[in-house]
Amino acid sequence: QLTLKTGGKDPYPDWKAGDPVPYAALCTTFSKIEMTTKRLEILAHCSLFLRQVLRLTPEDLLPTVQLMINKLAADYAGIELGIGESLIMKAIGESTGRSLNIIKADQNEIGDLGLVAAKSRSNQPTMFKPKALTVRGVREGLMGIATIEGQGAQGRKVAGIKKLLSAADAHLAGKGGKGVDITKDKGGPSEAKFIVRTLEGKLRLGLAEKTVLVALAQAMVFHETTENSGRVPSTEQLARGERILKSVYSELPSYEVVIPAMLQYGIFDLPNKCKLRPGVPLKPMLAKPTKSISEVLDRFEGKNFTCEYKYDGERAQIHFVAHDAPQEYATTAPSAGKSDKGVANIFSRNSEDLSKKYPDILAKLPTWVKQGTKSFVLDCETVAWDTIEKKVLAFQQLMTRKRKDVKVEDVKVKVCVFAFDLLFLNGEALVNKSFQERRELLRSSFVETEGEFAFAAFANTNDLEEIQTLLEESVKASCEGLMVKMLDGPESSYEPSKRSQNWLKVKKDYLAGVGDSIDLVVLGAYYGKGKRTSWYGAFLLACYNPNTQNYETVCNIGTGFSEAILEDFHSQLKQHVIDRPKPFYNHSTGNKDQPDVWFEPRFVWEVKTADLTLSPRYKAAADQLSSGDGKGISLRFPRFIKLRDDKKPEQATTSRMIAEMYQKQESVSKNRGPAVDDDF
Ligand code: ATP
Repeated sequence: QLTLKTGGKDPYPDWKAGDPVPYAALCTTFSKIEMTTKRLEILAHCSLFLRQVLRLTPEDLLPTVQLMINKLAADYAGIELGIGESLIMKAIGESTGRSLNIIKADQNEIGDLGLVAAKSRSNQPTMFKPKALTVRGVREGLMGIATIEGQGAQGRKVAGIKKLLSAADAHLAGKGGKGVDITKDKGGPSEAKFIVRTLEGKLRLGLAEKTVLVALAQAMVFHETTENSGRVPSTEQLARGERILKSVYSELPSYEVVIPAMLQYGIFDLPNKCKLRPGVPLKPMLAKPTKSISEVLDRFEGKNFTCEYKYDGERAQIHFVAHDAPQEYATTAPSAGKSDKGVANIFSRNSEDLSKKYPDILAKLPTWVKQGTKSFVLDCETVAWDTIEKKVLAFQQLMTRKRKDVKVEDVKVKVCVFAFDLLFLNGEALVNKSFQERRELLRSSFVETEGEFAFAAFANTNDLEEIQTLLEESVKASCEGLMVKMLDGPESSYEPSKRSQNWLKVKKDYLAGVGDSIDLVVLGAYYGKGKRTSWYGAFLLACYNPNTQNYETVCNIGTGFSEAILEDFHSQLKQHVIDRPKPFYNHSTGNKDQPDVWFEPRFVWEVKTADLTLSPRYKAAADQLSSGDGKGISLRFPRFIKLRDDKKPEQATTSRMIAEMYQKQESVSKNRGPAVDDDF
């Protein structure tokens, strides 16, 4: 229950009903959250603050939530922060009248740009008291910075950052550092600190997006009961509100749509008002890895399941609404492709808008649709297609396609779309139907066209030998292996954003290894030897821990790279070199373990490994192992496979998944574990 001591005082006496939410009030909450590691306390701080927003300034609920989760808009809008360190340092220097060298020296000493900004601010004499920042003002300022493009963009970004920093911390400015211990937030939490961390794309409060969602549900339930009727909500009401918001958000992951609807209709009526709709991509369902067909048979024993080819291309969620659809939907994605038939979008696994990459698909889409199919959301894989041999091509061919501003007439690598699921049809969400029903609807609403659009090949069998044969056939057909899916009953529903037990993947390559490849973030590099001296020859890689928001080192890698790739990576990575590791890198501090250069977390690489082992040199999942001796899990004989530019660093393999793989390997645990949210 939400009880935190406030000492009976109004924590924000200057914030009156109808006022814009003061940014300082949000920073006070951030600071309280930062000081605890207890999840329930974090949740309570967050929820109490949102209740206050709902009571005094509900119109600011959306920007408040956006700043709490550090996302200015839903993923499909493509608006990203993650501003590089050098631009931020420049802005701190210019806004506080300190030289870049001093800022760099501070950064070397303190190691946290947010604190450097706060310190700079407190040392700065003030001529006048700046107008206090508001949550909506900060969100707008950040939005301006994130969306600047074109000529002189860097300079204008610096100007935008300076503007925010100059208005920050009216209470700290001019104190000359006296009585102000920035590192402990004495003298009040620093707005500059949180602005800088927001700009860097990492608040590092231990505040997961999932927690904000739960806090929002709780705040709303309280608001609707206590604030309106004086009653305290029951535990059941709170749990129901939480369930509703989680389920609505998983179908419609856009706070821009969900929050206004919740304010208008209340949380309990939300499922009737906010449903999956074309134009807003849902987070895709993902699969759990397995190491053998017999493991699949064990897991699905007694269940009806189906085995599909696992195509090796790019995930694509295709949304469409015909102009003459009976119900009109707001197709809000920015680059929706319009044709004389309707409005269509293609989204990536990451909810990025791929419409500019695949105009050829958008152009042909209406011809694959049967009469009467007026609106839909398809889950598919786009695969490179050999038009002469009429067969699937390797994944590498697909990667040679341009990502942006592709013109249909210039397309060299043709793609075929393999559809494996239907999530929405003619105004109705299908996610709660069984897979059998969804598959039947998919097959009766579309028509296959050779080399353009096909249904995923499948067989409904539970015979080990038949599955083995299918696996071999899939590999011969240039697929990665099989996807094995629950076929009927509630367990076969579509579970957005879940890496679910009800979808298993069997990859041919990994049957003898750890069951799956691993996607890791590049944190550092070592200069090469011999022929490779002018490039990086080896790299330090890390997995991601969404709970602490830290990157945890997991291996060094120097195998699997061609000379051309190394040259390419050198030119990409050298633009992201930083002077020292970020405070959210969890790595060994031993002298001989330090890479020659450190990078901003930007690139995700897919890596294969022989097996996993414990090592004092790496930190992956160290806090999740029962040994508690500080050793982490590391990859043995890692080998580079490919760049995963469809994944953000936060979508790298999590330390929990590494721990699961390790435990499975060690047979420490036979526990199957529940489905987990993958994308938070
Ligand atoms: P991977 O490296 O295996 O693609 P991932 O984390 O991107 O990892 P997984 O859940 O592990 O995704 O594997 C499922 C992926 O396989 C889907 O995201 C999709 O792109 C692809 N895929 C290919 N064929 C199918 C299919 N028939 N059903 C579902 N997914 C398929």
